[in-house]
Amino acid sequence: MDTEIITIGDELITGHTVNTNAALIARYVTDLGFSVRYQTSVGDSLESMEEAFRLALKRARLVITTGGLGPTHDDITKKAIVRLFKRNLIFHQEILDDIRARFAKRGVEMPAINQNQALLPQGATLFPNKHGSAVGLCFAEEGRIFISLPGVPFEADQIMVDEVMPYLRGIQTAQATRIMKLRTTGIYESKLADKISHDLKLEPGVRLAYLPSYSGVDLRIMATAENAEAAGDKALRLVRYLEDTCGRYIYGRDDDSLEAVVGQLLADNDKTLVVAESCTGGELGMLITSVSGSSNYFLGGVIAYANDVKIEQLGVDAAILEEHGAVSEPCAIAMAVGCRKLLKSSYALSITGIAGPAGGANDKPVGTTYIGLASAHASYARKFNFGARRDTGRSRASYAALELLRREILDIK
Ligand code: ATP
Ligand code: MG
Repeated sequence: MDTEIITIGDELITGHTVNTNAALIARYVTDLGFSVRYQTSVGDSLESMEEAFRLALKRARLVITTGGLGPTHDDITKKAIVRLFKRNLIFHQEILDDIRARFAKRGVEMPAINQNQALLPQGATLFPNKHGSAVGLCFAEEGRIFISLPGVPFEADQIMVDEVMPYLRGIQTAQATRIMKLRTTGIYESKLADKISHDLKLEPGVRLAYLPSYSGVDLRIMATAENAEAAGDKALRLVRYLEDTCGRYIYGRDDDSLEAVVGQLLADNDKTLVVAESCTGGELGMLITSVSGSSNYFLGGVIAYANDVKIEQLGVDAAILEEHGAVSEPCAIAMAVGCRKLLKSSYALSITGIAGPAGGANDKPVGTTYIGLASAHASYARKFNFGARRDTGRSRASYAALELLRREILDIK
Protein backbone atom coordinates (compact mmCIF):
# COMPACT_ATOMS: atom_id res chain seq x y z
CA MET A 1 0.00 0.00 0.00
CA ASP A 2 1.49 3.34 -1.09
CA THR A 3 2.33 5.46 1.92
CA GLU A 4 3.32 9.05 2.53
CA ILE A 5 4.79 10.43 5.75
CA ILE A 6 4.29 14.11 6.48
CA THR A 7 6.28 15.71 9.27
CA ILE A 8 5.14 19.10 10.48
CA GLY A 9 7.08 21.89 12.15
CA ASP A 10 9.07 25.03 11.28
CA GLU A 11 12.01 23.63 13.23
CA LEU A 12 12.19 20.66 10.83
CA ILE A 13 12.23 22.57 7.57
CA THR A 14 14.77 25.09 8.87
CA GLY A 15 17.07 22.28 9.92
CA HIS A 16 17.07 23.12 13.62
CA THR A 17 15.59 19.78 14.59
CA VAL A 18 16.70 16.58 12.90
CA ASN A 19 13.69 14.79 11.46
CA THR A 20 13.87 11.51 13.34
CA ASN A 21 10.12 10.86 13.23
CA ALA A 22 10.09 10.39 9.46
CA ALA A 23 12.83 7.77 9.69
CA LEU A 24 11.21 6.02 12.63
CA ILE A 25 7.78 5.75 11.04
CA ALA A 26 9.14 4.82 7.63
CA ARG A 27 11.07 1.93 9.15
CA TYR A 28 8.07 0.68 11.08
CA VAL A 29 5.67 0.68 8.16
CA THR A 30 8.23 -0.68 5.71
CA ASP A 31 8.80 -3.62 8.03
CA LEU A 32 5.06 -4.23 7.92
CA GLY A 33 5.19 -4.38 4.13
CA PHE A 34 3.84 -0.91 3.33
CA SER A 35 5.57 0.94 0.56
CA VAL A 36 6.71 4.43 1.53
CA ARG A 37 6.62 6.50 -1.64
CA TYR A 38 7.08 10.01 -0.24
CA GLN A 39 8.29 11.83 2.85
CA THR A 40 7.19 15.44 3.04
CA SER A 41 7.99 18.12 5.59
CA VAL A 42 5.98 21.28 6.00
CA GLY A 43 6.19 24.30 8.29
CA ASP A 44 3.54 25.40 10.77
CA SER A 45 1.38 27.09 8.15
CA LEU A 46 -2.23 26.20 7.52
CA GLU A 47 -1.96 26.69 3.76
CA SER A 48 1.15 24.50 3.35
CA MET A 49 -0.37 21.82 5.51
CA GLU A 50 -3.63 21.70 3.61
CA GLU A 51 -1.79 21.57 0.33
CA ALA A 52 0.50 18.80 1.54
CA PHE A 53 -2.39 16.76 2.97
CA ARG A 54 -4.43 17.09 -0.22
CA LEU A 55 -1.54 16.03 -2.43
CA ALA A 56 -0.64 13.11 -0.16
CA LEU A 57 -4.20 11.79 -0.19
CA LYS A 58 -4.10 11.87 -3.98
CA ARG A 59 -0.92 9.84 -4.34
CA ALA A 60 -0.94 7.56 -1.29
CA ARG A 61 -3.51 5.34 0.38
CA LEU A 62 -1.92 5.65 3.79
CA VAL A 63 -0.84 9.05 5.13
CA ILE A 64 0.81 9.46 8.52
CA THR A 65 1.61 12.91 9.93
CA THR A 66 3.47 13.97 13.06
CA GLY A 67 3.56 17.28 14.90
CA GLY A 68 1.34 20.22 15.64
CA LEU A 69 -1.21 18.43 17.82
CA GLY A 70 -0.28 20.27 21.00
CA PRO A 71 -2.20 23.05 22.73
CA THR A 72 -0.13 26.08 21.69
CA HIS A 73 -1.02 28.58 18.96
CA ASP A 74 1.51 27.09 16.54
CA ASP A 75 -0.11 23.66 16.81
CA ILE A 76 -2.58 23.86 13.96
CA THR A 77 -2.62 20.38 12.46
CA LYS A 78 -6.15 19.80 13.78
CA LYS A 79 -7.33 22.98 12.05
CA ALA A 80 -5.97 21.76 8.73
CA ILE A 81 -7.63 18.38 9.21
CA VAL A 82 -10.99 19.95 10.05
CA ARG A 83 -10.86 22.05 6.90
CA LEU A 84 -9.74 19.23 4.67
CA PHE A 85 -12.15 16.57 5.90
CA LYS A 86 -14.95 19.08 6.58
CA ARG A 87 -15.51 17.89 10.14
CA ASN A 88 -16.67 19.66 13.26
CA LEU A 89 -14.70 19.63 16.47
CA ILE A 90 -16.41 17.61 19.19
CA PHE A 91 -15.73 18.05 22.89
CA HIS A 92 -14.60 14.88 24.73
CA GLN A 93 -15.14 15.08 28.48
CA GLU A 94 -13.18 11.86 29.14
CA ILE A 95 -10.12 13.30 27.40
CA LEU A 96 -10.31 16.52 29.39
CA ASP A 97 -10.58 14.48 32.61
CA ASP A 98 -7.55 12.49 31.57
CA ILE A 99 -5.45 15.58 30.83
CA ARG A 100 -6.53 17.16 34.16
CA ALA A 101 -5.54 13.97 35.99
CA ARG A 102 -2.11 14.05 34.34
CA PHE A 103 -1.47 17.55 35.60
CA ALA A 104 -2.85 16.70 39.04
CA LYS A 105 -0.42 13.78 39.27
CA ARG A 106 2.44 16.23 38.79
CA GLY A 107 0.89 18.50 41.40
CA VAL A 108 0.06 21.38 39.04
CA GLU A 109 -3.18 22.84 37.82
CA MET A 110 -4.01 22.34 34.16
CA PRO A 111 -3.43 25.54 32.13
CA ALA A 112 -6.58 26.72 30.38
CA ILE A 113 -5.14 26.28 26.88
CA ASN A 114 -4.99 22.52 27.37
CA GLN A 115 -8.79 22.44 27.14
CA ASN A 116 -8.28 22.69 23.37
CA GLN A 117 -6.92 19.21 23.38
CA ALA A 118 -10.27 17.73 24.33
CA LEU A 119 -11.76 19.18 21.13
CA LEU A 120 -11.29 16.57 18.42
CA PRO A 121 -12.52 16.17 14.85
CA GLN A 122 -15.79 14.29 14.53
CA GLY A 123 -15.56 10.67 13.46
CA ALA A 124 -11.87 10.24 14.24
CA THR A 125 -10.63 7.07 15.88
CA LEU A 126 -8.51 8.15 18.85
CA PHE A 127 -5.15 6.58 19.69
CA PRO A 128 -4.28 7.13 23.38
CA ASN A 129 -0.96 8.74 24.27
CA LYS A 130 0.65 7.26 27.39
CA HIS A 131 3.26 9.98 27.73
CA GLY A 132 1.54 13.19 26.71
CA SER A 133 -1.73 15.03 26.37
CA ALA A 134 -2.11 14.98 22.56
CA VAL A 135 -3.94 11.87 21.36
CA GLY A 136 -3.38 10.36 17.91
CA LEU A 137 -6.14 10.67 15.30
CA CYS A 138 -7.16 8.32 12.54
CA PHE A 139 -9.62 8.72 9.66
CA ALA A 140 -10.45 5.99 7.21
CA GLU A 141 -12.64 6.81 4.25
CA GLU A 142 -12.92 6.03 0.56
CA GLY A 143 -10.07 3.55 0.80
CA ARG A 144 -7.70 6.13 2.27
CA ILE A 145 -6.29 6.17 5.78
CA PHE A 146 -5.08 9.37 7.41
CA ILE A 147 -3.28 9.17 10.74
CA SER A 148 -2.05 12.13 12.80
CA LEU A 149 0.42 11.71 15.67
CA PRO A 150 2.03 14.16 18.10
CA GLY A 151 5.51 15.44 17.28
CA VAL A 152 7.48 14.51 20.40
CA PRO A 153 9.52 11.54 19.17
CA PHE A 154 8.96 9.15 22.08
CA GLU A 155 5.23 9.90 22.07
CA ALA A 156 5.00 9.22 18.34
CA ASP A 157 7.03 6.05 18.87
CA GLN A 158 4.78 4.75 21.65
CA ILE A 159 1.58 5.37 19.70
CA MET A 160 3.07 3.75 16.59
CA VAL A 161 3.99 0.61 18.51
CA ASP A 162 0.92 0.28 20.75
CA GLU A 163 -1.83 1.54 18.44
CA VAL A 164 -0.91 2.23 14.83
CA MET A 165 1.01 -0.96 14.03
CA PRO A 166 -1.70 -3.31 15.37
CA TYR A 167 -4.26 -1.27 13.42
CA LEU A 168 -2.20 -1.44 10.22
CA ARG A 169 -1.60 -5.16 10.60
CA GLY A 170 -5.38 -5.55 10.64
CA ILE A 171 -5.96 -3.73 7.36
CA GLN A 172 -2.94 -4.99 5.51
CA THR A 173 -3.49 -6.40 2.05
CA ALA A 174 -2.63 -10.05 1.52
CA GLN A 175 1.08 -9.50 0.97
CA ALA A 176 4.05 -10.01 3.19
CA THR A 177 7.52 -8.54 3.12
CA ARG A 178 10.68 -10.07 4.51
CA ILE A 179 13.68 -7.85 5.10
CA MET A 180 17.11 -9.28 5.83
CA LYS A 181 20.52 -7.70 6.12
CA LEU A 182 23.91 -9.24 5.44
CA ARG A 183 26.83 -7.32 6.88
CA THR A 184 30.12 -7.22 4.97
CA THR A 185 33.44 -5.56 5.63
CA GLY A 186 36.88 -5.36 4.08
CA ILE A 187 35.64 -4.71 0.54
CA TYR A 188 34.59 -1.54 -1.26
CA GLU A 189 31.01 -1.08 -2.33
CA SER A 190 31.81 -0.97 -6.05
CA LYS A 191 33.97 -4.08 -5.91
CA LEU A 192 31.31 -5.91 -3.93
CA ALA A 193 28.64 -4.85 -6.42
CA ASP A 194 30.85 -6.07 -9.23
CA LYS A 195 31.16 -9.53 -7.70
CA ILE A 196 27.47 -9.75 -6.93
CA SER A 197 25.92 -8.36 -10.08
CA HIS A 198 27.89 -10.64 -12.37
CA ASP A 199 25.39 -13.52 -12.44
CA LEU A 200 22.59 -11.94 -10.50
CA LYS A 201 19.02 -12.26 -11.70
CA LEU A 202 16.60 -10.86 -9.16
CA GLU A 203 13.26 -12.62 -8.85
CA PRO A 204 10.17 -10.42 -9.20
CA GLY A 205 9.32 -8.78 -5.89
CA VAL A 206 12.92 -8.91 -4.63
CA ARG A 207 15.12 -5.89 -4.12
CA LEU A 208 18.76 -5.63 -3.12
CA ALA A 209 20.31 -2.45 -1.72
CA TYR A 210 23.93 -1.58 -0.88
CA LEU A 211 24.31 0.45 2.32
CA PRO A 212 27.91 1.57 2.83
CA SER A 213 29.34 3.01 6.04
CA TYR A 214 32.89 3.28 7.35
CA SER A 215 32.65 -0.08 9.06
CA GLY A 216 31.62 -1.92 5.91
CA VAL A 217 28.82 -2.37 3.40
CA ASP A 218 25.48 -3.83 4.39
CA LEU A 219 23.40 -5.73 1.85
CA ARG A 220 19.69 -5.22 2.42
CA ILE A 221 17.37 -7.79 0.93
CA MET A 222 13.68 -7.02 0.65
CA ALA A 223 11.34 -9.71 -0.65
CA THR A 224 7.60 -9.38 -1.13
CA ALA A 225 5.25 -12.28 -1.78
CA GLU A 226 1.69 -13.48 -1.18
CA ASN A 227 2.50 -14.69 2.35
CA ALA A 228 5.24 -14.56 4.96
CA GLU A 229 6.62 -17.99 4.17
CA ALA A 230 6.93 -17.30 0.46
CA ALA A 231 8.56 -13.93 1.16
CA GLY A 232 11.03 -15.61 3.54
CA ASP A 233 11.89 -18.26 0.92
CA LYS A 234 12.52 -15.65 -1.73
CA ALA A 235 14.76 -13.65 0.61
CA LEU A 236 16.69 -16.78 1.58
CA ARG A 237 17.32 -17.73 -2.04
CA LEU A 238 19.04 -14.37 -2.55
CA VAL A 239 20.92 -14.73 0.74
CA ARG A 240 22.31 -18.06 -0.44
CA TYR A 241 23.42 -16.54 -3.71
CA LEU A 242 25.14 -13.70 -1.84
CA GLU A 243 26.86 -16.12 0.50
CA ASP A 244 28.13 -18.06 -2.51
CA THR A 245 29.48 -15.03 -4.33
CA CYS A 246 30.93 -13.02 -1.44
CA GLY A 247 30.64 -15.13 1.71
CA ARG A 248 34.19 -14.41 2.86
CA TYR A 249 33.29 -10.75 3.41
CA ILE A 250 30.06 -11.46 5.28
CA TYR A 251 30.59 -11.39 9.03
CA GLY A 252 27.01 -11.33 10.22
CA ARG A 253 23.32 -10.71 9.71
CA ASP A 254 20.78 -8.07 10.73
CA ASP A 255 21.92 -6.53 14.03
CA ASP A 256 25.21 -8.42 14.37
CA SER A 257 28.21 -6.15 14.96
CA LEU A 258 31.76 -7.01 13.95
CA GLU A 259 33.01 -6.45 17.50
CA ALA A 260 30.42 -8.87 18.89
CA VAL A 261 31.04 -11.47 16.17
CA VAL A 262 34.80 -11.41 16.75
CA GLY A 263 34.22 -11.51 20.52
CA GLN A 264 32.06 -14.59 20.13
CA LEU A 265 34.74 -16.28 18.01
CA LEU A 266 37.33 -15.62 20.71
CA ALA A 267 35.02 -16.88 23.46
CA ASP A 268 34.04 -20.00 21.48
CA ASN A 269 37.70 -20.84 20.91
CA ASP A 270 38.79 -20.01 24.46
CA LYS A 271 41.19 -17.36 23.22
CA THR A 272 42.20 -13.99 24.62
CA LEU A 273 43.04 -10.69 22.93
CA VAL A 274 45.15 -7.62 23.69
CA VAL A 275 45.69 -4.45 21.66
CA ALA A 276 48.62 -2.11 21.02
CA GLU A 277 47.27 1.13 19.65
CA SER A 278 49.09 4.14 18.33
CA CYS A 279 47.02 6.36 16.02
CA THR A 280 43.64 5.03 17.22
CA GLY A 281 44.43 6.09 20.79
CA GLY A 282 42.27 3.43 22.43
CA GLU A 283 39.38 3.35 19.98
CA LEU A 284 39.91 -0.32 19.18
CA GLY A 285 39.84 -1.19 22.88
CA MET A 286 36.70 0.88 23.30
CA LEU A 287 35.02 -0.91 20.40
CA ILE A 288 35.92 -4.34 21.79
CA THR A 289 34.74 -3.47 25.30
CA SER A 290 31.45 -2.02 24.05
CA VAL A 291 30.30 -5.64 23.91
CA SER A 292 28.82 -6.99 27.11
CA GLY A 293 30.80 -10.06 28.23
CA SER A 294 34.04 -8.86 26.60
CA SER A 295 35.90 -9.44 29.88
CA ASN A 296 35.80 -13.14 28.99
CA TYR A 297 38.32 -12.67 26.20
CA PHE A 298 39.71 -9.11 26.27
CA LEU A 299 42.64 -8.61 28.67
CA GLY A 300 43.67 -5.02 27.95
CA GLY A 301 46.10 -3.01 25.89
CA VAL A 302 48.77 -0.39 25.60
CA ILE A 303 48.18 2.99 24.03
CA ALA A 304 51.64 3.39 22.58
CA TYR A 305 51.43 6.82 21.02
CA ALA A 306 54.99 8.01 21.60
CA ASN A 307 58.00 6.13 20.25
CA ASP A 308 59.38 5.83 23.78
CA VAL A 309 56.31 3.90 24.86
CA LYS A 310 56.60 1.63 21.84
CA ILE A 311 60.21 0.93 22.79
CA GLU A 312 59.97 0.75 26.57
CA GLN A 313 56.59 -0.90 27.08
CA LEU A 314 56.20 -2.99 23.94
CA GLY A 315 59.87 -3.76 23.38
CA VAL A 316 59.93 -2.41 19.81
CA ASP A 317 63.57 -2.28 18.72
CA ALA A 318 64.77 1.32 18.44
CA ALA A 319 66.56 0.34 15.24
CA ILE A 320 63.21 -0.52 13.60
CA LEU A 321 61.89 2.96 14.36
CA GLU A 322 65.06 4.57 13.09
CA GLU A 323 65.20 2.58 9.90
CA HIS A 324 61.51 2.20 8.97
CA GLY A 325 59.68 4.74 11.13
CA ALA A 326 56.76 4.14 13.50
CA VAL A 327 54.31 3.82 10.63
CA SER A 328 55.76 0.73 9.04
CA GLU A 329 55.21 -2.98 8.67
CA PRO A 330 58.08 -4.04 10.95
CA CYS A 331 56.92 -1.64 13.67
CA ALA A 332 53.31 -2.92 13.51
CA ILE A 333 54.54 -6.50 13.79
CA ALA A 334 56.89 -5.66 16.66
CA MET A 335 54.11 -3.83 18.52
CA ALA A 336 51.77 -6.82 18.25
CA VAL A 337 54.43 -9.35 19.19
CA GLY A 338 55.62 -7.22 22.12
CA CYS A 339 52.12 -6.57 23.41
CA ARG A 340 51.19 -10.24 23.26
CA LYS A 341 54.32 -11.12 25.22
CA LEU A 342 53.78 -8.34 27.77
CA LEU A 343 50.12 -9.11 28.47
CA LYS A 344 50.20 -12.86 27.84
CA SER A 345 47.33 -13.39 25.43
CA SER A 346 46.47 -15.71 22.55
CA TYR A 347 46.21 -12.84 20.05
CA ALA A 348 47.45 -9.28 19.83
CA LEU A 349 46.36 -6.62 17.36
CA SER A 350 48.37 -3.47 16.68
CA ILE A 351 47.56 -0.28 14.82
CA THR A 352 50.04 2.36 13.74
CA GLY A 353 49.26 5.01 11.16
CA ILE A 354 49.09 8.64 10.11
CA ALA A 355 45.63 9.68 11.22
CA GLY A 356 45.68 13.06 9.49
CA PRO A 357 44.68 15.60 8.51
CA ALA A 358 48.37 16.68 8.70
CA GLY A 359 51.62 14.76 8.84
CA GLY A 360 51.84 12.88 5.56
CA ALA A 361 54.92 12.49 3.41
CA ASN A 362 55.50 11.37 -0.17
CA ASP A 363 56.24 7.76 0.66
CA LYS A 364 53.67 7.69 3.47
CA PRO A 365 50.63 9.78 2.56
CA VAL A 366 48.10 10.79 5.20
CA GLY A 367 45.91 7.83 6.12
CA THR A 368 48.67 5.24 5.67
CA THR A 369 48.12 2.66 8.39
CA TYR A 370 49.65 -0.69 9.28
CA ILE A 371 47.67 -3.23 11.24
CA GLY A 372 49.59 -6.04 12.88
CA LEU A 373 48.55 -9.37 14.29
CA ALA A 374 50.46 -11.76 16.51
CA SER A 375 49.47 -15.23 17.68
CA ALA A 376 51.31 -18.32 18.87
CA HIS A 377 51.79 -19.35 15.23
CA ALA A 378 52.17 -16.21 13.20
CA SER A 379 52.92 -12.53 13.14
CA TYR A 380 52.28 -10.25 10.20
CA ALA A 381 51.02 -6.82 9.24
CA ARG A 382 48.91 -5.39 6.42
CA LYS A 383 49.07 -1.95 4.90
CA PHE A 384 45.94 0.18 4.41
CA ASN A 385 45.01 3.72 3.59
CA PHE A 386 42.00 5.03 5.48
CA GLY A 387 41.98 8.57 4.08
CA ALA A 388 42.76 11.99 5.50
CA ARG A 389 39.79 12.38 7.86
CA ARG A 390 40.92 11.77 11.40
CA ASP A 391 37.60 10.55 12.86
CA THR A 392 36.51 8.13 10.16
CA GLY A 393 40.10 7.03 9.52
CA ARG A 394 40.48 5.89 13.10
CA SER A 395 37.16 4.06 13.10
CA ARG A 396 37.94 2.35 9.82
CA ALA A 397 41.31 1.26 11.20
CA SER A 398 39.67 -0.24 14.29
CA TYR A 399 37.17 -2.21 12.23
CA ALA A 400 39.87 -3.35 9.82
CA ALA A 401 41.88 -4.68 12.77
CA LEU A 402 38.90 -6.71 13.98
CA GLU A 403 38.36 -8.03 10.46
CA LEU A 404 42.02 -9.09 10.25
CA LEU A 405 41.51 -11.10 13.42
CA ARG A 406 38.23 -12.61 12.19
CA ARG A 407 39.95 -13.85 9.05
CA GLU A 408 42.87 -15.21 11.07
CA ILE A 409 40.60 -17.18 13.40
CA LEU A 410 38.42 -18.51 10.59
CA ASP A 411 41.44 -19.08 8.38
CA ILE A 412 40.00 -17.01 5.52
CA LYS A 413 42.84 -16.28 3.13
P1 ATP B 1 3.16 18.87 21.94
O1 ATP B 1 1.90 18.40 22.56
O2 ATP B 1 4.36 18.48 22.74
O3 ATP B 1 3.18 20.30 21.54
P2 ATP B 1 3.01 18.39 19.12
O4 ATP B 1 2.29 17.31 18.44
O5 ATP B 1 2.44 19.75 19.03
O6 ATP B 1 3.27 17.96 20.59
P3 ATP B 1 5.33 19.62 18.09
O7 ATP B 1 4.98 20.83 18.89
O8 ATP B 1 5.26 19.75 16.61
O9 ATP B 1 4.43 18.41 18.53
O10 ATP B 1 6.76 19.08 18.48
C1 ATP B 1 7.08 18.77 19.82
C2 ATP B 1 8.57 18.46 19.97
O11 ATP B 1 8.91 17.33 19.19
C3 ATP B 1 9.46 19.59 19.48
O12 ATP B 1 10.57 19.72 20.36
C4 ATP B 1 9.94 19.14 18.15
O13 ATP B 1 11.20 19.66 17.83
C5 ATP B 1 9.94 17.63 18.26
N1 ATP B 1 9.61 17.10 16.94
C6 ATP B 1 8.50 17.38 16.24
N2 ATP B 1 8.51 16.74 15.05
C7 ATP B 1 9.65 16.03 15.01
C8 ATP B 1 10.24 15.17 14.03
N3 ATP B 1 9.65 14.93 12.86
N4 ATP B 1 11.43 14.59 14.32
C9 ATP B 1 12.03 14.86 15.50
N5 ATP B 1 11.54 15.66 16.46
C10 ATP B 1 10.36 16.24 16.22
MG1 MG C 1 3.57 21.61 20.01
